[in-house]
Amino acid sequence: MKKEQAGLYIHIPFCLSKCGYCSFYSIKSVNLIPEYIAALKKEIKYYRNVFSFFDSIYIGGGTPSLLTPKQFIEIFISLNKYFNIDINAEITLEANPGDISSKYLKTLRRIGINRLNIGVQSFDDKVLKFLGRRHSSVEAISAIEAARKAGFDNLGIDLIYGVHGLNIKSWKNTLQKAISFSPEHISCYQLSLDDRTPLYKKYSSEGWHFPDENTELKLLLTTAEELENAGYIHYEVSNFARKDKFKSRHNQKYWQHTPYLGLGPAAHSFLNNKRWWNKAAVKTYLNEIAQGKMPVEDTETLSAEQLQLEALFLGLRTKAGIDLKLYKAKYGVDLLANKKTIIDALIKNKLVELKNGILRPTRTGMAVADNLALI
Ligand code: SF4
Repeated sequence: MKKEQAGLYIHIPFCLSKCGYCSFYSIKSVNLIPEYIAALKKEIKYYRNVFSFFDSIYIGGGTPSLLTPKQFIEIFISLNKYFNIDINAEITLEANPGDISSKYLKTLRRIGINRLNIGVQSFDDKVLKFLGRRHSSVEAISAIEAARKAGFDNLGIDLIYGVHGLNIKSWKNTLQKAISFSPEHISCYQLSLDDRTPLYKKYSSEGWHFPDENTELKLLLTTAEELENAGYIHYEVSNFARKDKFKSRHNQKYWQHTPYLGLGPAAHSFLNNKRWWNKAAVKTYLNEIAQGKMPVEDTETLSAEQLQLEALFLGLRTKAGIDLKLYKAKYGVDLLANKKTIIDALIKNKLVELKNGILRPTRTGMAVADNLALI
């Protein structure tokens, strides 16, 4: 592999309880964590000659904040043994508000974790209960304060909107509360439910409805307006950063076809136009690693057409947009010539703008980005 700065994702698939809306795979058997760390270290070693340089590490889950500082140190020693980790690497940890004390966070800061993403979801206890979260709004606030006290100066907050019974006014209150802590990054996700989740079943049995298209658009536009008025850059459909340097370096790699390695069950990797992903069950993952096998579920090689369509889809979800000259050089497609009528119509309807050879979504365009990609 050429010496490109790749991204590294480490999955921690353990949760103490299951949130009602969550369809991610995770298990409650935290007693397996030591065995899991040992397996992760073996998987790290497998990839020593495939990847070499990383400038972003993202530890997600599940609930990574269930690991002890000692367990993070074990992982980092292994990473440093087999890979070159950039001295200024962005190292993010996803954390649940109920799990993090200031003492714990101080130790994490000392061992090199420099970005914390807290799963606040809401500052409204009714919403937290509705979602089946383990924490309260008071715990969410304490977690933010503890993070600041511990020296985290790159702090992200995740929020969820579009919840039954939450009107635009209460959503605005949650946004304003988040803004009052001046986090460097805010992610806002619309509640979407897999039909196997308990909350989906509750929606069906209670006859609750998801926001209709108009309300959805209004929620998205309100979110963008509130956060942009507070000085945040709306750099991707769901993501806002206080300054350019606080945009998630790691997540941008997913949107730009930069190589990334995913370790742990269900984790995805991408390199040289190939994408592969691991088996999802923790037990299978542990067994295969113990037998000296790669726990890979499947691999796909992306065709030139798939790559250019993905780049179009992902580009139109970001403020950076699509640099038409670079797009042509990389994918051999002249978007402006091929899709002139559609692009002209989108510009006329103020959904995209074309400036200095960059095609990018407007605020309304971002709100309907999934439809834009169908051009
Ligand atoms: S903590 Fe996160 S991963 Fe775990 S069940 Fe809740 S939403 Fe899912």
